[in-house]
Amino acid sequence: VFIAFEGGEGAGKTTQARLAAIWLRDHGYDVVSTHEPGATKIGMRLRAMLLDRDTTGLSDRGESLLYAADRADHVANVIRPALERGAIVVSDRYIDSSLAYQGFGRGQDVDDIARVNAWATGGLVPDLTVLLEVPPRTGLGRLSAPADRIESEPQEFHERVRAGFRALAEADPDRYLVLDASRPQGELSREIQYRIREILPD
Ligand code: C5P
Ligand code: MG
Repeated sequence: VFIAFEGGEGAGKTTQARLAAIWLRDHGYDVVSTHEPGATKIGMRLRAMLLDRDTTGLSDRGESLLYAADRADHVANVIRPALERGAIVVSDRYIDSSLAYQGFGRGQDVDDIARVNAWATGGLVPDLTVLLEVPPRTGLGRLSAPADRIESEPQEFHERVRAGFRALAEADPDRYLVLDASRPQGELSREIQYRIREILPD
């Protein structure tokens, strides 16, 4: 079972992914908690390059390909091996982040990004994607150390990213759980648990 958490800056993906993983472990499941970008050795280097794009002048296509390279390595070395041994994988971000940020956000062709990523991952799609929706102003305000993030992008960029995530969820509603991330943490995690329970094999 593969579960991805998606959403904009400061939506609480990392927190909710962690709470879901703890809850699953408490119920005896073998859980692999992971994240993008940067979960593997090469991924950590790619993450450093990606977050430094302003100083290196990395092109938009280059950025998309580096995210896809990170993801290819992540799937091959972490996610697939875990799924093959029967573990539940919980990832903080996956393909939808590329579609939303590089596609909707930077205006690259969303279908092209989808194709590159389908190839990079061998077509691996999550069983459930939890989308944490937060207005960009609220989300950006929550960040404690925005300096290493791309919060320097204009507000409109984050609005496009948000609309992109929502469009992705609307195009495939059965695979998504869309939640208003401004609700209390405990309520959100309970709804997430309820939904995860439905997709677990018994
Ligand atoms: O989720 P995390 O904070 O680790 O993401 C690091 C940064 O990378 C964030 O600023 C996020 O907006 C950015 N990012 C991106 N495109 C992606 C994935 C993440 O611009 N496909
Ligand atoms: Mg996070």
